Amino acid sequence: MKCPACRGTLITLEFNAVEIDHCGTCGGVWLDSGELESLLSREEGSDSLLATMRPGRGKEWKRRCPICSKGMKKTSIGNAAPVVVDRCVEHGLWFDRGELNKVFSAGCVDSHRGAGTSGLLAILDEVFAPETKDTP
Ligand SMILES: [Zn+2]
Ligand SMILES: [Zn+2]
Repeated sequence: MKCPACRGTLITLEFNAVEIDHCGTCGGVWLDSGELESLLSREEGSDSLLATMRPGRGKEWKRRCPICSKGMKKTSIGNAAPVVVDRCVEHGLWFDRGELNKVFSAGCVDSHRGAGTSGLLAILDEVFAPETKDTP
C-alpha cells in the first residue's frame, strides 16, 4: 500500500492484534475502518472520543485513500483540541505524523483519565519519534 501523503511504502505494524500501517518516510499512519474503534475500545473512557467525529476543515491538500484512491474527507476528532484527519468512509483513516498521538491524548483529557491510553501512547512515541528515543 502506498502512503497517501508522500507515496512512500506503508509498513504494517501490529499492536494488540490491531494492524497499523505506518509510513517510515513521513511518519503518517493508516488505520483500516474499524481499527481506530478497536484500539479505542481497549482504552477506558475513550468511547466518547468516537462520538466527537465530525466533518472538519483542513488547510492541507486533499489526500487520496490508499485503497480506493478516492479523495478523502477531512474529519475532526476531539472536543478540546480537535485533530483534523483524512477519512475514507469505506476504508479508514489517515493520520499525519503525531496526529494519532494527539487523538489519544485528547481522549485522555476528555475522559479525565490519565492512565488509560498510556500503553498505546508509549508505543506510538517509540514508533513515531525514533529520533528522540535515546534522548534522556
Ligand atoms: Zn508518507
Ligand atoms: Zn477508500
